[in-house]
Amino acid sequence: MTSCPRCGKEAKATGKEWKFGQFDAKSYHCKSCDKTFSAFYKGGALSHTVPKK
Ligand SMILES: [Zn+2]
Repeated sequence: MTSCPRCGKEAKATGKEWKFGQFDAKSYHCKSCDKTFSAFYKGGALSHTVPKK
């Protein structure tokens, strides 16, 4: 489960996944904010999230 970096609520995976260097990236959508963000995983653990404008 991944929380929204803006509001901390649960965000839903959009199904979009890609490789970003040594990270596995996933796209999420937060219903509360109605915004998307990207989460970056390294070795299966969450590294950081990047909000999209
Ligand atoms: Zn949110």
